[in-house]
Amino acid sequence: MQSRVAIEKQFRLIRTALFVAWAILSAIIVAWSVRSSTERAYSDVMQKAGETLAVQTEILSGVLDKYRLLPPLLSRQSSIRTLFVRDAAGNAQTIDARGTAEAIAGMSAARDVAFFFPDGALLANARGSSAKSAVAPPELIEVARQGRLGRAALSYGGDDRTYAFSFGVRRDGKFVGVVVVYVDFYRVEAAWALSARRIFVTDKSGTVFLANDPAWRLKPLSDFRQAGEPARYLIGDGFEQRLDLTQRLPLLEWDLHVLADPAPVATARLSAASIATLACLLAGLIALLALRRNEMAILRARTDRATALRLERVVRDRTRALSVINRSLSHEVEVRRTAEERLRKTQDELVQTAKLAALGQMSAALSHEYNQPLAAIRSYADNALRFIDRGATSEVSANLSRINGLVERMAELSRTLLSFSRKPGATIEPVPLGTIVDEALLLARPRARAAGIANIHVGQQVSGLYVQGGRIRLGQVIVNLVNNAIDALAGIPNARVEIDARREGDLIIVTVADNGPGISPEELPKVFDPFFTTKGIGEGIGIGLSIVDNIVRDFGGTIVASNRPEGGACFTVSLRAASAPGDAPDNIEETAGIGLGV
Ligand code: ADP
Repeated sequence: MQSRVAIEKQFRLIRTALFVAWAILSAIIVAWSVRSSTERAYSDVMQKAGETLAVQTEILSGVLDKYRLLPPLLSRQSSIRTLFVRDAAGNAQTIDARGTAEAIAGMSAARDVAFFFPDGALLANARGSSAKSAVAPPELIEVARQGRLGRAALSYGGDDRTYAFSFGVRRDGKFVGVVVVYVDFYRVEAAWALSARRIFVTDKSGTVFLANDPAWRLKPLSDFRQAGEPARYLIGDGFEQRLDLTQRLPLLEWDLHVLADPAPVATARLSAASIATLACLLAGLIALLALRRNEMAILRARTDRATALRLERVVRDRTRALSVINRSLSHEVEVRRTAEERLRKTQDELVQTAKLAALGQMSAALSHEYNQPLAAIRSYADNALRFIDRGATSEVSANLSRINGLVERMAELSRTLLSFSRKPGATIEPVPLGTIVDEALLLARPRARAAGIANIHVGQQVSGLYVQGGRIRLGQVIVNLVNNAIDALAGIPNARVEIDARREGDLIIVTVADNGPGISPEELPKVFDPFFTTKGIGEGIGIGLSIVDNIVRDFGGTIVASNRPEGGACFTVSLRAASAPGDAPDNIEETAGIGLGV
């Protein structure tokens, strides 16, 4: 991947190259646009001035042509010719001639019309002999004498100028006089005055003869012009550049000038230069921005790629580390599995050992339980035999009934063991606690009475409560707890057993308490263990509470043993509360097993 510095350097080079190209291109564009708009503006100015020039040339030529033809025409008129004939007295026909001149001047709008004799003497003129035009310049007479059209530009000082055309009058081939028509330029100049451009006429000597600026008239053009390209002319108070468009009037050897203001050309040049420069600058700026953007995009892409690569590396490293960890974890799992396996084996061995120990314990207990009555039965039987030999039947009978009692006790023990091993009923349903306690007490009371305990108290609340359980099994629980209490109360004065129950939320708490010696703290955790007993041989084998605990668990409840503060043990059974069923059928789930306290 290209480094950031290399990319920046590359773009710096591109920028420099682009700048050079831009500068050259901009110079060309600016020059080209300046040139083309200058040309356009120039030709525009020239075209407009040219139009003015053409029009004014036409007007001036029209005016001059009109008056140019007048003297030859008049000289051919016989009425004109006769004017130059003197009467008999040798007097000229001044009055007639004057009238004719006035009429012609009036009709043609000429400045003056005059008739001269060949010697230059005035016959008559339209404006009167005092007029400046009453004197004909000799060259006009001379050219007329030669039979050609005489022409002359005349100035009388000040602003007074005229142009005169002359033609000779011949009578019978004899040169008798001259007709001179004077042209007035007042109207032409008045028309020029309307134009914003300077319009003027110069004669062949370079003198301004006609001009729309009165100050210029009859003065040499050089007074108003400074040489230059374009030349500068006096406009107002100062000299300004003007383009001079000239049209020659060949007849008069005059030049008609129209001065055009070149300012629009300069303005067009300036605006073209500014617009082209601005456009180039803008284009350059856009190109620069685009390039910068491109550079940024490439740099960003590079950074992104670098980040992605870095990330990829990190991920690869992590993955590697994770697979190492994974491997070590697998190893650990394997070690743990082996350890667990070993533990399970050890546990199994322990359970096996415990089972064997329990079996041994149970065997010892059972062998004591059975050996003792068996030994008694043997001695009672031996005695009975001896009593038979002696014929003492009453003793034989007493011994046999003792043997019977001992066999009955062994059978009871056997039934207890059977109930321990039998699979309990599985049905769990709402059962009436009060009824079950009553039934259990029916079985327990004879034993209580035998032990001298008359006081078994049942709380009032017990009768109304229903719990989730099995009727026979719950009875077994109560009988076992009461029997244990009875056992514990042996020899205790004012012995008392209390059975009570209360509702706590969704639970029914049943307590069986006594005012016996209670359970020592070190024995408390063990009382529910199978075959734990503190009773002497033949009095208990330690499976009652274990059975009770199993039954209560089956019901989804718990049982806790504790000592009451005032003395005595208390067994607290928590069972799930049930609502009284409307037609609860009596559930006979088991046919035997109740009342088997040991
Ligand atoms: P067993 O009655 O055959 O000994 P149990 O499992 O019923 O077996 O009881 C285990 C032991 O719990 C008894 O040996 C006794 O030490 C103790 N125990 C049970 N109930 C009471 C009680 N109400 N008061 C004092 N100790 C009790």
